[in-house]
Amino acid sequence: MSWEENVRKVVPYTPGEQPKINNIIKLNTNECPYPPAPSVKRAMDSFEYETLRLYPDPNSGSLISALSDYYNVPSDQIFVGVGSDDVLSMAFLTFFNSDKPILFPDITYSFYDVWADLYKIPYKQIPLDEDFRIKKEDYYIENGGVIFPNPNAPTGLVEDLDMVEDILQNNNEVVVIVDEAYIDFGGKSALPLIDKYENLLVVQTFSKSRAMAGMRIGFAFGSKKLIGYLNDAKFSFNSYTMNRPSLELGAATLADKEYFNETCSRIIATRERVKPLLAELGFVFPDSSSNFIFAKHKTVSGKKIFEELRSRGIIVRRWDLPRISEYLRITIGTDEQMDTLISALKEIV
Ligand SMILES: *Cc1c(COP(=O)(O)O)cnc(C)c1O
Repeated sequence: MSWEENVRKVVPYTPGEQPKINNIIKLNTNECPYPPAPSVKRAMDSFEYETLRLYPDPNSGSLISALSDYYNVPSDQIFVGVGSDDVLSMAFLTFFNSDKPILFPDITYSFYDVWADLYKIPYKQIPLDEDFRIKKEDYYIENGGVIFPNPNAPTGLVEDLDMVEDILQNNNEVVVIVDEAYIDFGGKSALPLIDKYENLLVVQTFSKSRAMAGMRIGFAFGSKKLIGYLNDAKFSFNSYTMNRPSLELGAATLADKEYFNETCSRIIATRERVKPLLAELGFVFPDSSSNFIFAKHKTVSGKKIFEELRSRGIIVRRWDLPRISEYLRITIGTDEQMDTLISALKEIV
């Protein structure tokens, strides 16, 4: 027998490329094209470097209390992590321990099946309908938990709260996770439902709408019980997940509501401006409520457009997966970047 038989093997998630070259237009990982809030800059400038010799607060108190004030949720109903990826991974570990399969859409965030494989959680991918919509009845079957993003990624489609609540009503014996990475760009958050459903976890992030992907800050809201279980798992894993700069700069971003609203509005305005331009060029796409558009061309292949864009210094995201291989996920950049994209697409198609 070889030692390799005892290795936990997993096919890892592939993050979007972070190219080293400058001068490219990077529309592949849904980052914000604008800088973080000025309040973050100020917090960074006044950060006391000497404090780095000390461990951070294992309870992430300052960040949690800032989130508590901002969202008007008690501190013991908030959990924070190193990006929502960390929060979600911890939630999979904590809540998905059934022999029955957890359920998520067939077209969705491609990290879910990786965590399920890593933790040996059985899962069943539920096909979206032909318009990439979630069919709520498909989630009425016996299962070990439910997770879906809203708005969904990479489709960009948002479902209304009635649908989210319907899934909750039909799944009160398992934990239901709503991954709201893009909720600030459209749709209604399920946050108010945490008081009604003890088994609901709502996960959000500062990576997209707050322009802080580089800081790695994610958070979750849920019942006191749910958050308690998450903390037990976290403190059995790594007490100091959030570093000192993350705690300070994370709290600081919440102080500038105006900048945040303005940035989100700008991205939404650019998205709405780009939609008809893409349609004119022969692209079809679900009506995005996020900071990206998931588009395919009526005649030209996704692979060809992807490569042609790349050769022009524009990077978008594409997956060689069933049902979506013709699609490109295009992050909404600045107006100028999107104009360059549209000109390039004009040449290509
Ligand atoms: C980007 C993204 C995340 C993870 O974001 P973090 O940077 O880890 O906070 C989680 N879920 C979805 C659907 C995403 O698109």
